[in-house]
Amino acid sequence: MFDVIVIGGGHAGVEAAHAVHRQGLKCCLITFKAGTIGQMSCNPAIGGLGKSHLVREVDALGGIMALATDLSGIQSRTLNTRKGFAVQALRVQCDRDKYKQAIQQLLSNTEITIKEGEVVDILIKKNTIQGVELRSGERVISTRTILTTGTFLNGVMFKGNEKISGGRVGDDTSIPLSKKLYSLKLPMGRLKTGTPARIKLSSINLSLMDEQPGDPNPPSMSVLQPPAKKLPQISCYITRTNKTTHKIIFENTHLSAMYSGKISGIGPRYCPSIEDKISKFSDKESHQIFIEPEGLEKDLVYPNGISTSLPIKAQQDFVKSIKGLENCEIEEFGYAVEYDFIDPRSLRPTLETKFIKNLYLAGQINGTTGYEEAAAQGLVAGLNAAQAILNKPEVIFDRSEAYIGVLIDDLTLHGVTEPYRMFTSRAEYRLMLSQDTACQRLTAKGHSLGLVSNKIFKEYEKKENKYQDFLKEIKNIKTEQNNKPATGNDLLKRTDIDPAEVKKILNISEDKKELFERAANEIKYSGYIAKQKREVEGYRKNEKVTIPSELDYSCIKGLSNEVIERLNKHKPSTLGQAGRLEGVTPAATSLIAINIKKNKQHEKA
Ligand code: FAD
Repeated sequence: MFDVIVIGGGHAGVEAAHAVHRQGLKCCLITFKAGTIGQMSCNPAIGGLGKSHLVREVDALGGIMALATDLSGIQSRTLNTRKGFAVQALRVQCDRDKYKQAIQQLLSNTEITIKEGEVVDILIKKNTIQGVELRSGERVISTRTILTTGTFLNGVMFKGNEKISGGRVGDDTSIPLSKKLYSLKLPMGRLKTGTPARIKLSSINLSLMDEQPGDPNPPSMSVLQPPAKKLPQISCYITRTNKTTHKIIFENTHLSAMYSGKISGIGPRYCPSIEDKISKFSDKESHQIFIEPEGLEKDLVYPNGISTSLPIKAQQDFVKSIKGLENCEIEEFGYAVEYDFIDPRSLRPTLETKFIKNLYLAGQINGTTGYEEAAAQGLVAGLNAAQAILNKPEVIFDRSEAYIGVLIDDLTLHGVTEPYRMFTSRAEYRLMLSQDTACQRLTAKGHSLGLVSNKIFKEYEKKENKYQDFLKEIKNIKTEQNNKPATGNDLLKRTDIDPAEVKKILNISEDKKELFERAANEIKYSGYIAKQKREVEGYRKNEKVTIPSELDYSCIKGLSNEVIERLNKHKPSTLGQAGRLEGVTPAATSLIAINIKKNKQHEKA
């Protein structure tokens, strides 16, 4: 008997199991193959816009994705450096095999039981999950179960006319479990995603492409854990599609699995196939392709930007029309995969299902796409399953506290119309949620929840105290600017002086570079952050105001028909929920708030 069973050893499953383990409970992780635990199904990279924020938050709460990234990273770059600090994001190219090994190593240091096998049934009594049954007939019993089956539920892979069962290449599909979930009349649908061909590095002419080296001295992905020893760092390369490539793709589009009507599921808009790009942006003469190494010792690259479900011959032809790839050897062809997902509006914010007690869902099964989104949900599900067993309150992250809060709130409130990925633009309080402040925002909470060990927390506090001392020091350094006295604080607030210049004026040594950069951002944006904090307080007041179920929105003057329709459809129970519905503006929420207040006064009178 286990406290928690986690089904699936992908990115959601491992964070869920590790979170349960950190809370001192007995966990069994069941997955098709132990050797694929932590496998990256698509591109070997972690982080990027909006996503590094999630990884840093998982890290701040004691999770393992960031540490595994540092142990396997072979190129790191900070994206959006010309934009404000809140939207800057670290992206790390990983050695695919080493990432998986790092995850498996981190799990092997725990007491998590790993069981190989296919879960074919979930055991339900009085609408409460009791455990699972494997294909071998073995039954495993637990108090709570977390389902993280990714792209495997009735997964079907497509390449032109070819159609093969499987959640990803080389793996099985999960059909009996899918049938079971359908038989329970759960709100389910189909989504799709795709991946490009993998090409032998030795067959590519890199000299015809633009080299893209990583940043010199990049920061680690994990801020909380002791720094990992870095692997040798290597470059990526950039090439482009051309008129011939587009012509070949255009002429073969009718053979693409995605276009010939074989796939009904909806794909990720932000990660379109090359067929999609050519048809939707027909005026564009060329699309960029990033040639990303799969590993330090691997003779393989991942050509990011040309995911496809065209037949093999068409793939061969269009890939070879690209500069530098003329003589390339394709090791594995691209394909699309279609799979079942469950409407996340059927979940509570703890990720427990509303329909079956003690059953939680996390990761791609909830309609998301991406390793980072999956890991964040895994942590939330694992944490809450454990909290429930320990009779402790549920943990729901606020939208102003973490991207994790934004993710779960978006999913459970709005559902998905296409695979959901994180963007910084999804967070209304993003100035407060920079990737660099994840520990400040979450680590004390993680420690109090039992997710962060005393040892790690003490180290974190030491680092944080050092930063706070540095901040005080820098704020008070006295200097002169244009013959007038000025403090470090005054200089960093000025928009006409570059922080690099201030660093020189204040004579900050190179070993304090990271401390200085954090302080510079904090001081520069302190006014805006304070304003955002005030807005959050206002929003928190509203968040809890209950909307009476009998409230007639059509009687509220000033609400548009569209807003009334949306409110009637979603029936938000609080003003906070109403305000987060698409199209429901702050002005509309304040009209509703005034109306509720008026009605209450009427009742009293
Ligand atoms: P997965 O990583 O899919 O893991 C699921 C786990 O569940 C596996 O370990 C599997 O063995 C196990 N499992 C399933 N059913 C059972 C069962 N019945 N019994 C036991 N074990 C079971 N993301 C992007 O961000 N961008 C992309 O471009 C992109 N392209 C993709 C292309 C392809 C072809 C695929 C397959 C995925 C792609 N993804 C992409 C998605 C990315 O891989 C997922 O978002 C991420 O892996 C989801 O993590 P997860 O933990 O939810 O599921």
